Amino acid sequence: MYALRRWAVRHAGLMESLYRFFDTALHIVRPVVRLIGFDRAEKPVAAVERSVKGLLFDCRMCGACLLSVTGMACPMNCPKSMRNGPCGGVRLDGTCEVKPDMPCVWVEAWRGSQRMRLGVIPKDPNPPLENNHVGKSSWLRVVRQEPWPKPLLTNAPHAPTSSAASRLEQLLREGVFVVTSECAPPDSADPDVVLNHAHYYEGCIDALNVTDAPGAHCHMSSMGVSLLLEKAGWEPVMQMTCRDRNRIAIQGDLLSASALGIRNLLCLTGDGIENGDDPGAKPVFDLDAVSLLDTARRMRDDGLYRSGRELATPPKLFLGAVDNPFVPPFDLRPMRLAKKIEAGAQFVQTQYCFDIDVLERYMEHIRDEGLHNRCFMLIGVGPLVSPRMARWMRANVPGVYIPDKVITRLERAQDPKSEGIKMCVEIIQQIHEIEGISGIHLMAPKREHLIREIVYASGVLAGRPS
Ligand code: SF4
Repeated sequence: MYALRRWAVRHAGLMESLYRFFDTALHIVRPVVRLIGFDRAEKPVAAVERSVKGLLFDCRMCGACLLSVTGMACPMNCPKSMRNGPCGGVRLDGTCEVKPDMPCVWVEAWRGSQRMRLGVIPKDPNPPLENNHVGKSSWLRVVRQEPWPKPLLTNAPHAPTSSAASRLEQLLREGVFVVTSECAPPDSADPDVVLNHAHYYEGCIDALNVTDAPGAHCHMSSMGVSLLLEKAGWEPVMQMTCRDRNRIAIQGDLLSASALGIRNLLCLTGDGIENGDDPGAKPVFDLDAVSLLDTARRMRDDGLYRSGRELATPPKLFLGAVDNPFVPPFDLRPMRLAKKIEAGAQFVQTQYCFDIDVLERYMEHIRDEGLHNRCFMLIGVGPLVSPRMARWMRANVPGVYIPDKVITRLERAQDPKSEGIKMCVEIIQQIHEIEGISGIHLMAPKREHLIREIVYASGVLAGRPS
């Protein structure tokens, strides 16, 4: 079956022709099916559809088939149910972050779409899967002429949240080159652990991301740590993943976060459960990062829950997304970012940059599309303190690309730690010169004591009032 699925992608052009022929046939049989009764036809048609599409595409009967616009690769085979393009964890050889022996379905989708005449992957965001449609026939939906789930965007320019802008938003809108960093919540119920740890960042950053169960490991919650930091005068960026909550829990948390004074929200799909220390936990992935962004934007700008129910007071949130320009499929990355912007992203933070040439090429695309004018671009950076650490990160942290030349430089250095810090400073200085970039996101897990030294050595805070 798996071989057939790959064959279908390799012959996506042929499958597209068959698909279009079949689509016409479905419209022709409409009067007959109407005579039988659409509801009565549901079960047998769904059974046939499941067998045919299951055999050819490993179809999961999501009830809102996307095959014709995903290069004949069913996105429901993605372990994270991504319906809006690849996650940032795709391996360099194009295989899946979660299942290394499987090609990423979105890499396949991109390849398949290149072989199709009309199968361009749409730029508009796809809505999330409706669980009450799972198992139902998409064919019958076509026959019924039921409206297909609409793209999420409103096409309205994203409202600047100026009346309640966060400090981070204000700085970005003023054109300041910002520095953000991130902290991992502790395995502790003691608030002092959070506050003592925050001293590492004093005087050298503008905002501090709080990760949300990173690597699928449980810690104090992102909202809890964000609140502690906010009360102590910090500018938190609360990270929220889609792995552990469904849309009902997520929307409740968005209201709570805003009510508690948290203004910056970074929306992520999240790492696979398989990467964590409790792989038996249930992965939720009811939304993906794109539909999470859209949900938050709708709540803020339209005052509505996803269901359409009205909110008495909308949340005030500055919305962020992540991107990874350093892993395949490279040509799809700017489009994926465009989708996130359409859905509501106002700033983006990227995965670690260790290769400035790849970043330059990515930024060329971003500028060509004008995306840097619609979303503030913050580039991820971090110090590598030994060749061993670099090799470990490359092998074990999903989505991190470290070129050989970086590892060689560390190996040849007399003092690899100083060399790693020097390299990080150089990369920040190069990033500072690239048109369209609004700041850096400096990540140094377990090496937070290096952050101040790196930021000051890079000179990016020069000219700021002390
Ligand atoms: S790499 Fe990410 S997007 Fe691709 S199939 Fe795996 S989980 Fe899904």
